[in-house]
Amino acid sequence: MKLPIRWMLVSIAGLLAAAPAYADLKVATSLTDLASVAQFVGGKHVTAQSLCRGYEDPHFVPAKPSLMKAIQHADVFVSVGLELDGGWLPLVLPGSRNPKIQPGAKGFVDASEGVDVLEKPTGTVSRAEGDIHPLGNPHYYADPKALEVVADHLAEVFSRLDAPNAADYAANAKAFDEKMEASLARWEKEMAPYKGAPIVTYHKNFIYFAERFGLKQFGTVEPKPGIPPTPRHLAELAATMKQAGAKAVVYQPYYSAEASRELATKAGGVAVEIATEAGGLPGTDDVFSKFDVLVSSVAKALSGKSGGAQ
Ligand SMILES: [Zn+2]
Repeated sequence: MKLPIRWMLVSIAGLLAAAPAYADLKVATSLTDLASVAQFVGGKHVTAQSLCRGYEDPHFVPAKPSLMKAIQHADVFVSVGLELDGGWLPLVLPGSRNPKIQPGAKGFVDASEGVDVLEKPTGTVSRAEGDIHPLGNPHYYADPKALEVVADHLAEVFSRLDAPNAADYAANAKAFDEKMEASLARWEKEMAPYKGAPIVTYHKNFIYFAERFGLKQFGTVEPKPGIPPTPRHLAELAATMKQAGAKAVVYQPYYSAEASRELATKAGGVAVEIATEAGGLPGTDDVFSKFDVLVSSVAKALSGKSGGAQ
């Protein structure tokens, strides 16, 4: 993924400007969406930063010493849970040598707690064939309502760790939920014409979005989560897409645009780059603007007005 330098500078400047000089709680997260929710709930009492950028694959973040250093003095660490960050967080957390945020400590939060998890395995959990979703699908942050669960959870955690500001955290979480409900009504209206429409995604990270807005997850460019596409898989998928009239393929900045476009061209559809994580594309700085851009891109792709494989 190549981002224009100008966008990165604007984004960094924005983050610096947003950070208050003094914070009661320093919060670090594994995902930008969680940092965005944490900042909203924490308001002026919290500084929140994410280790993974919105344009990086959250499954595979290099466990660099700079990440360990970044969370050395954090009071809270918010993990996505369900092993989304299971490939790198178990290296980064101990590497920080910060006892406050290790799993089991008061400052460690598993944000998936309380979320209705989809694709929970019923039999024995196995990583056979490279499956990177061993505990169920971890991409719940593509559902606006799941983020309300996260907001309420974070308000409880922040209140426990910083009791004098508990009323503010509760009020901020309530405001977050209200804003999300109002936004969701808008997004549902925008998606209403596409109820039941089939959609192909690069990775299986869109099922919560599909479920919320009534889309049909038709297939994935990857044959299995974490396994790169093969020519044979793409040819077979393109054939079934043609039969079913499935035309929209969506992919994140950190996945292969080439494979997505190739599939879309073969199937006579369109491939559209989307951000499922805040900061993944310009104009998606927080979770609300992320969904604004995401919903309009998906609606456009499904409407067939995206103008061929892009
Ligand atoms: Zn995944």
